[in-house]
Amino acid sequence: MSRERTPEWVCQLRFYVICIPVGIIAAIALLPFAVPMLLGFGLTLVIFWNFTRLFTNAVVRVADPETYKAMRDRGVDPFVASLGAPLNFDSEEVRLRGLTHNASCPACADLLWINPGLTLTCPGCGACWHNDQWWKWNGSQWILIQ
Ligand SMILES: [Zn+2]
Repeated sequence: MSRERTPEWVCQLRFYVICIPVGIIAAIALLPFAVPMLLGFGLTLVIFWNFTRLFTNAVVRVADPETYKAMRDRGVDPFVASLGAPLNFDSEEVRLRGLTHNASCPACADLLWINPGLTLTCPGCGACWHNDQWWKWNGSQWILIQ
C-alpha cells in the first residue's frame, strides 16, 4: 500500500530505453559511422535530459520561488513531477506527498501517512498523532480528539 515516488534515475532509465530503438535504427542506416553516431546519440540524450531538468527547475524557481522551495522541502523535483507515463506512473498524490495516505487528520481532514508508535504533526492544522491517538493543543493543554 505504501508507495514512494519513482526516483529520478528510474524515469531517466525509461527515457533511454524508449530512445534506444531510434539509435539502433540510425546506427544501421549510417552503418560505416555507427560507433561515432551511437556515441553522439547517447551524449545528446544525456545532455537533453539534464538540460531539460535544469531548465524546468530554473523556470519554476524564477516564476514562483516560494512554491519551488516548498516542493524541494517535500523532496519533489518539479521536472520529475511534471513527467507523465510512460516515464513516471506516479499518481498525483504520490507526486505531491511522496507516499499514499493511510489516514486523514480528524481536525482538518488533511490526508496523511502515519506510522504506529511515531509522533507526527499535521502540517494543515497542527494536530498531533502521538501514542497512537490524535491530540490538539488548545492553548493551555493537549486535548484528545475523538
Ligand atoms: Zn490536520
